[in-house]
Order: sequence, then C-alpha cells, then structure tokens
Amino acid sequence: MQLAYKVNLGQEFTTVWIRNDRKTIKFSDERCVICEGVEIADMPGLQYCNLLSGVFQAVLGLRGFKGTTYQETCRALGDPECMWTTKSE
Ligand SMILES: [Zn+2]
Repeated sequence: MQLAYKVNLGQEFTTVWIRNDRKTIKFSDERCVICEGVEIADMPGLQYCNLLSGVFQAVLGLRGFKGTTYQETCRALGDPECMWTTKSE
C-alpha cells in the first residue's frame, strides 16, 4: 500500500496545491486506499491514515524538500477527502 503511494505520488491525488513560495504543499485524496470502507465514529481526533504523512515526507525529502507533514482531514472520520499538509522547515 505504501509502495503504491510512492509510485503514484503526484499522479493519483485529487489535488496537489503548492503555495507560491513553495514552503507549503497540500495533497488531498478522495479515494484514499487506506480509508476505503473504514468508518470511525467514536474516536474524534484520530488520524486514521496518518502513516501516509511519513511516506510523503520521505518522498519529498528525496526531492530535496525538507519539511514536516501532518494530516488535516481523514475520510475514515467522515471528511469528504483525506488531506495532508507539508510545511517547509
Ligand atoms: Zn485516508
């Protein structure tokens, strides 16, 4: 699953948004494979597919982008899409 995301990074996301100064990058995926079919109602604040944050951070690191990646929204918790943000250090 992680490998699939590595291979597809930059192609499979619903949106990829890069701020003008290139210090903030947002990814969103409304077909997140990890959250597919998952519904969590009783654990607010849980970031179900947060492990992908580490994958994105590693891939961006290989491209020379140093930053911190965290998850903002998650489909497993009822959000319409999974979204992650990377902020340059
Ligand atoms: Zn997800």
